[in-house]
Amino acid sequence: MLRFAPSPTGDMHIGNLRVAIFNYIVSKQRGEELIIRIEDTDKERNIEGKDQEILEMLALFGIEYSQVIYQSENIRFHVAMALQLIHDKKAFSCFCSSDWLDKKRQEAKDSKTAYRYDDACRNLPDELVIDNPNPFTIRIKRPDSTVVVHDHIKGDVSFEPDAVDSFIIMRQDKTPMYNFACAVDDMLADISLIIRGEDHMSNTPKQDHIRTALGYSKKIEYAHLPIILNDDGKKMSKRDDASSVKWLLEEGFLPSAIANYLILMGNKPPKEIFDMSEAVEWFNLDSVSKSPARFSIDMLRYINKEHLKNLDAKELSRYVGFADIEIGELAKVYLEEISTIKELRAKIAPIFANKEIPQEFKEASLILIETIKKAPYFEEYDDFKNFIMKESGLKGKDFFKTLRLLLTGVEHGPDLAAVYKYLKNYIGEIVK
Ligand code: GLU
Repeated sequence: MLRFAPSPTGDMHIGNLRVAIFNYIVSKQRGEELIIRIEDTDKERNIEGKDQEILEMLALFGIEYSQVIYQSENIRFHVAMALQLIHDKKAFSCFCSSDWLDKKRQEAKDSKTAYRYDDACRNLPDELVIDNPNPFTIRIKRPDSTVVVHDHIKGDVSFEPDAVDSFIIMRQDKTPMYNFACAVDDMLADISLIIRGEDHMSNTPKQDHIRTALGYSKKIEYAHLPIILNDDGKKMSKRDDASSVKWLLEEGFLPSAIANYLILMGNKPPKEIFDMSEAVEWFNLDSVSKSPARFSIDMLRYINKEHLKNLDAKELSRYVGFADIEIGELAKVYLEEISTIKELRAKIAPIFANKEIPQEFKEASLILIETIKKAPYFEEYDDFKNFIMKESGLKGKDFFKTLRLLLTGVEHGPDLAAVYKYLKNYIGEIVK
């Protein structure tokens, strides 16, 4: 069983989407299920409706899953497991106040050493623990030996017991800390492989240690994906528009193209343009690059254009916002000039909009409009053109520029014959 574990605390970042896609591909390759775990235990940071938004986003990208689990529904298990650890003497109650701990943390900072809990409460005699009215947290005892994490991308990574520390697993209010909830949930769901961002690498030995302490012997496999850098080589953050999946979709990038690019980054696929089902054929988690991937909007634009070219006229017309297949065919004429749906819409919209004719073509346009209104239907552009040229008496720039303006709303663009082919049934709507 694999899992994608988003927090409903913000917009989906391309890094999260990449994690979801990789999980989906590997679950398909292994014939294992993929579950979605909404990590909603941080009540203050949760944003209402984000969980649904994430699920809709996954659907849009064709990421199928078998189940959705809400982490908050597992809290009773987290509490039970924490009590078990206390009972087994693998965890202990800690009465140190936050002020005291803050002071210790500050001291470590001032002396430029890494803060470690000093295990002050680790061996308190029972009489000081039982019936002690003071608030307490629960800490797991630090491991006795090195924790080694086997990672499909990073290789073996070792963590010394001190780096893992005797860390808090339950807060004073008896809610689970993130690492504890996550470790227990992965165990309860019988997860076999965790694919996630490398920002979670430091959590991994802690989570592994929790499961070992609980007597869980199954070793979960890991793959921590390198971060994504922006064009300046800095970690992509919320300040980079392109880091938001919503923004990319609004800009007119196709889900299939975004997925294509996120898989391409850090991989060496047999071809550049592909869909997810093709990626399932060749994707190899072990050969994903260890170094950070660099996001290039120009590369995404190129990939998007290729995906747009692969759409049929019907799909294309739907994306542009029309039901008629001819508009999809017309859109194809414009594909060389654009890279996104938004840019394509900006080409098609002026054709059907009320047209602003520049002063210098005003007079010619009035004549042409009258002529076109009187013209019969012509199958071929040349017949149409010859007829209105003759009837209007206009020629040269006055004729061609004005006709282009009346048909397309702009002064430059593709060959009018190519455009006419798909617009001939709409001439009455277009030239008013
Ligand atoms: N909820 C975490 C996040 O959104 C993911 C945790 C995990 O995959 O283990 O970053």
